[in-house]
Amino acid sequence: MNEIFKRFLEYLSIENLSIKQKFFLFSLGSLFWLMLVSAVGLITIFKMNNTSKQMVEELVPYEKVSNAVIRKLRGANISVHKIMLYDEKEIIQENYKRGKERLKDCQIYLKALLSGGTIKDYSISTGLLLDEFIVNPLKEEKKTLVIKDVISKIENLENNIDEILNRRLSGEKTNLLLQKVSEYDSLTRETVTILQQFAINIYNEWKEFTDLMNSKFNVAVILVSSIFFITAGLSVFFSLLMSRSLVNNIMAIIEQFRNFASGDIQFSKKLNVKSKDEVGMLANEFNKIMDAVLDLSTFKKIIEEDENVEDIYKRLGSIFRDKLKFDKFIIYEVSNSKNNMRVVFPSEPEEINLYCNRDILLDCELCRVKRTGHKVSSLDYPEICKYYSEGRDIIHVCIPIVSGGSVGGIVQFVCAKKDECDMENLEKRIKKAMQYIAEAQPVIEAKRLTRALKESSFRDALTGLYNRRFLEESFDNLVAGILRRGTTIGLLMCDIDFFKQINDIYGHDTGDIVLKEIANNIKNSVRSSDIVIRFGGEEFLVLLMDAKEGTSLGVSEKIRERIKETKIKIAGGFIQKTISIGISEFPVDTQNFWEAIKFADVALYKAKESGRNKVVRFTPDMWTEDNY
Ligand code: GH3
Ligand code: MG
Ligand code: MG
Repeated sequence: MNEIFKRFLEYLSIENLSIKQKFFLFSLGSLFWLMLVSAVGLITIFKMNNTSKQMVEELVPYEKVSNAVIRKLRGANISVHKIMLYDEKEIIQENYKRGKERLKDCQIYLKALLSGGTIKDYSISTGLLLDEFIVNPLKEEKKTLVIKDVISKIENLENNIDEILNRRLSGEKTNLLLQKVSEYDSLTRETVTILQQFAINIYNEWKEFTDLMNSKFNVAVILVSSIFFITAGLSVFFSLLMSRSLVNNIMAIIEQFRNFASGDIQFSKKLNVKSKDEVGMLANEFNKIMDAVLDLSTFKKIIEEDENVEDIYKRLGSIFRDKLKFDKFIIYEVSNSKNNMRVVFPSEPEEINLYCNRDILLDCELCRVKRTGHKVSSLDYPEICKYYSEGRDIIHVCIPIVSGGSVGGIVQFVCAKKDECDMENLEKRIKKAMQYIAEAQPVIEAKRLTRALKESSFRDALTGLYNRRFLEESFDNLVAGILRRGTTIGLLMCDIDFFKQINDIYGHDTGDIVLKEIANNIKNSVRSSDIVIRFGGEEFLVLLMDAKEGTSLGVSEKIRERIKETKIKIAGGFIQKTISIGISEFPVDTQNFWEAIKFADVALYKAKESGRNKVVRFTPDMWTEDNY
């Protein structure tokens, strides 16, 4: 019950109705009240018209009859006096006839009052038709009795006129005759008086009726105007309601748009439009846009402050996984200089199965997205990419991450089965993912550029090996890791024997070739986790990371042997070179990393001293100076 009442109130407040329903309700209400006003007006007019018609049809003929009868009675009276006045028989006969006819007419008229009928009122003297009208029979008993009395009186008048005529024709002119005439006169007067009274009564009735009509009309005017004012009031009330639920809300939205345009907007501040009509829907959608903008701008701000591009890949990955609910996707990073690509998300790429032929990693031009720079989707065309290896039942959508005008990365979304992914939702999620990718693109580009710059400042341009700066920047981390893990770094200081001769004999360019070749050889002789640094002109420092104590000697021998065996191709033939290596171990020989380097250098010196093409392990007795 409470619920129904609440619903009713809600309906009354019209806030939750759609605009269409609001206008419909408004016009329905207006129509109802308009119809009510018209109906009351029409009914009143109709009723008044009906009653007045009825009154006109009844009362007016009654009055007309009484007036006509009075006229005729007076005419008959004149005829009687003319009978008395003239002696000529023809005149007497003529007047008698007229008098008699007049009295007969009176009888006809009055009988019409009793039983109804049409009255044609002719003038006896001129023969003209004076009036013609219909008479309804009298309804009131009292009036009927009056008319019946008048009829009997007129009958008496007829008898009287007959008697007067007979006496006049017989030449009598006695008092009796005069008395008869005077009787006739007084009966006429009496009858006329009765009829006059009858006419007065009719008039009074008529007056009563007009008074009634007047008051009825006044009531109708009051009723119609009250309804009119109620209608006007309701219109104003509902207009205010409508404007409250429409205009105010629309103004709030406009205000928010203005703030948005001027940049003076707090994204987290929501539009507070509660109505469930189209305006409410508009506000809702606007809030959603604000949410999306806020979301994306927050995302962009965060990734801009991220330390490196790997963090951005990680963040993108967790948004795709946690927010957009993709459970199968891979982010690749493309190296345009090396023409290859690598998996950057998930961050342990060894553990995942690629959904593509692994060849794309080595030759990124095989990847369709990389080659075309366009989104590649099996939704648009099944089997679109021949390097995709999961078959046509498993959807894949690959989106490029554009960087510096070319494809710098690829995000591949995979959906296990067509039934498993809600298609409409999938496309929405892909679009959303593309928005995040678009936001991330310039930041990824900037971070990659920074990374490349940093990389190049840590690398030696000729050999591609790390330089001394790299060691200075990163030795803290290297040392901390070694101490934490409780392992050892083997330090091999390598120097090419008699390198100067190459420059002197073959020239500097050949010297560079030899340098590069030996650097490559050293690099390829150690594990990828080991670090090879060009320490000086033709000196290389190798850091054997997490090497077991004592293993450095073996590795050094291997390097030395390999270099000795390598035939380096130069213009006009091949040459072979040897190297000398000095070894120390950190933190076995010293807790000071730089001291360990010095120790390796000392050992190298010993190797040179003892004839070159040698490997010498540092021993404390080699170190005689107090400072290095
Ligand atoms: P040792 O056996 O005593 O090491 O004799 P060495 O000639 O190798 O030693 P030395 O230090 O006297 O000579 C090193 C030479 O390496 C000097 C320099 O001209 C040359 N060198 C250093 N850097 C480069 C380089 O980048 N390119 C070339 N071509 N030569 C370089
Ligand atoms: Mg040297
Ligand atoms: Mg040398």
